[in-house]
Amino acid sequence: MFENLTSKFEEIFSSLKKAPSLNEAQVDEGLTKIRQALLEADVALPVVKELIKNIKPKAIGQEVIRSTTPGQMIVKIVYDEIVKILGDTQSELNLNAVPPACLMLVGLQGSGKTTTAAKLAKYLEKNNKKKTLLVSLDIYRPAAQEQLNILGEKNSIQTLPVVKDQLPLDIVKRSLNAANLSGADLIIFDTAGRTQIDISMMNEIREIKSIANPVETILVADSLTGQVAVNVAQEFKKTVDLTGIVLTRVDGDGRGGAALSMKFATNTPIKFMGTGEKIDQLDIFHPDRIANRILGMGDIVSLVEKASEDVDEEKIKKTEENLRSGSFSMEDYLNQLRQMKKMGGMEGVLSMLPGVSKIKKQMDSANIDENLIKINEAIILSMTKEERLNPKIINGPRKKRISGGSGADAANINKLLKQFKMMTNMMKKMSKGDLKKGMSPEIFDQLK
Ligand code: GDP
Repeated sequence: MFENLTSKFEEIFSSLKKAPSLNEAQVDEGLTKIRQALLEADVALPVVKELIKNIKPKAIGQEVIRSTTPGQMIVKIVYDEIVKILGDTQSELNLNAVPPACLMLVGLQGSGKTTTAAKLAKYLEKNNKKKTLLVSLDIYRPAAQEQLNILGEKNSIQTLPVVKDQLPLDIVKRSLNAANLSGADLIIFDTAGRTQIDISMMNEIREIKSIANPVETILVADSLTGQVAVNVAQEFKKTVDLTGIVLTRVDGDGRGGAALSMKFATNTPIKFMGTGEKIDQLDIFHPDRIANRILGMGDIVSLVEKASEDVDEEKIKKTEENLRSGSFSMEDYLNQLRQMKKMGGMEGVLSMLPGVSKIKKQMDSANIDENLIKINEAIILSMTKEERLNPKIINGPRKKRISGGSGADAANINKLLKQFKMMTNMMKKMSKGDLKKGMSPEIFDQLK
């Protein structure tokens, strides 16, 4: 989501860093470019003004101008101010209440409320060991209640059985009883959304709030809608008083404006962000890590966390050994693809690495997408053990057989074999400690 902004910042910073010394006019020029980049990323004007207002006196200060590394000092100043605008520190959910603690999700239709309700339940069960009851109060959209219950069942989260024609306030009362009976620590209410803000929706939310007495009233906002999401959040804040925001579709190609503007415009912290459609694609919103990503410094901390959470260490170790001994096989490649898939695909991994926005663009044009991971997986699964260990033996007839087994055409198979070769080369370089060289744009050019 932050790619465009990141590559602009990388550009601005690299020219500032190149200069051995900076005068006020040069700093001013840099600030103008930063202002422009923020506006192009759809960051709200008051937020841009606030950022520049705070950055400027520090950036043109004597300390920077006299410094031997003025460019780097400016990067640090911009970083600090962006962290501040994003909310300074991580905002935890408040779960302090006599059980059941109630969490209420509000937001427009389609913003991702139902999905987020299930994601949050799963997250809190896993990380906070909270037994959760999921309850839909959306009696208007056909099958909305069933949708949440299906999601709950699929993910082993307790849900409230649907009673036809029951009104939202009665459903709240029934769920409070049900939670007491089943010993649930938490209830997550998914409220009805509308396509736009409307008075009856707000009134209903207020009534529900007065009965459920939630510890958290969380707005689910679609980051792809940019400034609209921010305006919606301001309206909600005024009428129902929010305690937090979950920003969804951060995996999409939004411009980042909503993320950067939300906290400042609503005085409400972003607590989580949705990074995909799957149940576990919900991440804590860490202002410092996001600022790092925006400024092209990567988010290695999150990457390492994800890796230790999702990755099978044994397999990684084995792969590393094979790599070092030069016996990296298709079997290892398959493992790599699977681990990569778990960590959000190439997109997910690359978006967190520092300084790779250029490579990422190249990768996009080389069309290395999620689909390709799936096709490659099918091709490798159709290979014999011997072929996986020694792909060099894959000749015409073998390719034909693999094609029949995987449904992929010859071009796909050739591409994978070529990719595998490139990957092996790239990994050899990376294992020697040269990450950037290993991931050089030329590699991606050759994958096309
Ligand atoms: P609701 O009307 O607010 O309850 O919205 P839903 O939860 O039904 O979500 C609408 C669509 O957005 C569904 O197809 C979800 O899978 C999708 N969705 C929700 N959150 C995310 C997210 O963080 N990333 C992506 N890519 N899709 C999401």
